[in-house]
Amino acid sequence: MKQCIACGMPMETSEDFAMGDPGKEYCRYCCHPDGTMQSYDEKLASLTDFIFKTQGLDEKAATSAAKSMMAELPAWKNENTR
Ligand SMILES: [Zn+2]
Repeated sequence: MKQCIACGMPMETSEDFAMGDPGKEYCRYCCHPDGTMQSYDEKLASLTDFIFKTQGLDEKAATSAAKSMMAELPAWKNENTR
């Protein structure tokens, strides 16, 4: 089973992939409407927002949680020096 390189979500059916294309390395939550992958900053913003809303952390804690999650993912391993 493949995992999204940008958020780590398991992709089980073709609908889970960007544009419904199992050849893609990332999921439908990590792509733009045209099928290109979101940037680090875009993904960080959406992940921070998700953590902020679901885990009750303040915004600063949510941002650092999102950064450490993203540091584990193949798409961003060159970005974690920021
Ligand atoms: Zn994803």
